[in-house]
Amino acid sequence: MARSSRSYDWGFPRWRGYGSSRETAKMRLCDREGCDKPGDRPAPKSPNSRERWYFCEEHAAEYNRNWNYFEGLSAEEAAEREADERRTAAGYAESSHYAWGGPGDGTRSRDELRALEVLGLESDADFEAAKTAWRRLAKANHPDVKPGDAEAAVRFQAIQAAFEILRKAEERRPPAKKPV
Ligand SMILES: [Zn+2]
Repeated sequence: MARSSRSYDWGFPRWRGYGSSRETAKMRLCDREGCDKPGDRPAPKSPNSRERWYFCEEHAAEYNRNWNYFEGLSAEEAAEREADERRTAAGYAESSHYAWGGPGDGTRSRDELRALEVLGLESDADFEAAKTAWRRLAKANHPDVKPGDAEAAVRFQAIQAAFEILRKAEERRPPAKKPV
């Protein structure tokens, strides 16, 4: 493919001929700007999104490294998003932001449930269990223990973010709601 025929626009998705011939079967290219490798690794564009980027192996790893599932989501935003989802699902908004109608005992937000999942815990696990799991997983995936392991680094970040969510939720939770 002639260099001049390359398009540098950000119009996603990039469907172009792969290789030098226009007759070459069309193949999806990596969505990373300027990359001509086949994009066969789907990555969600944002949490809860069905839209996907398609990256090559290298750029999928890069994207994952920089992508924190829980990042930038304050408790208020999480609650709001949850309320929105409830409205959509039930056509009706219910009173409590933190009463989640999904799995769990109803006292945990969706992000908390997700965080518990990241830590490999059941939805009814208490904070002490979360702390224990977090310590164990953070240790096992720590960059000092697994230097150069991109997957472990991603797990480590997710584990840290998950614990942070649970810790904040624990602080927020009224004492009366704690199990006796
Ligand atoms: Zn790429």
